[in-house]
Amino acid sequence: VEKQRIDLNALVQEAANLAFHGARATDKTFNVDVQMDFDGEVGDVECLPQELQRVVLNVCSNGMYEAAKNAGSFGREPILKVSTQRMGGRYEVRVTDNGGGIPEDMRDKIFNPFFTTKPTGEGTGLGLSMSFDIIKQHDGGLSFETELGQGTTFLFYLPEANDE
Ligand code: ADP
Ligand code: MG
Repeated sequence: VEKQRIDLNALVQEAANLAFHGARATDKTFNVDVQMDFDGEVGDVECLPQELQRVVLNVCSNGMYEAAKNAGSFGREPILKVSTQRMGGRYEVRVTDNGGGIPEDMRDKIFNPFFTTKPTGEGTGLGLSMSFDIIKQHDGGLSFETELGQGTTFLFYLPEANDE
């Protein structure tokens, strides 16, 4: 399969919207305040667009799910922040939720295939392991930062597409 030149901001925006509307479609009461902040310095990446979309979709769905489920118990409205940055010759995408963070004893398991804490039928546990592989195939990296009681940021970086 051939990679294509795609505007990363547009791809991220579209996938984040898909995640939100997908969740709304299954649960009309679903509400997360999605805040997007795109760096105008971010341009094209060489990618398999459908694969990259799946990464953004999954990471956003995960964050929205945890925010929607847990933010209330901390007295907060559920929020998901999606942003892009250009830094040092590469592009970074950050997806931050306020769903309370990932418990310490789970942190080394979340990338394992089939690891899920979702009820049967709601999660396959494949999203993060697939996302990790896809980002690696794009010469990038995927990682996370998490703080208990606060939330989690999943971030990935990709190289800029070369100049024509
Ligand atoms: P699934 O979404 O089908 O459960 P994933 O591979 O996408 O599978 O995620 C695996 C698990 O990692 C989730 O079930 C959840 O326990 C944990 N996880 C992923 N993202 C977050 C997040 N933003 N906050 C807290 N836990 C998370
Ligand atoms: Mg998932």
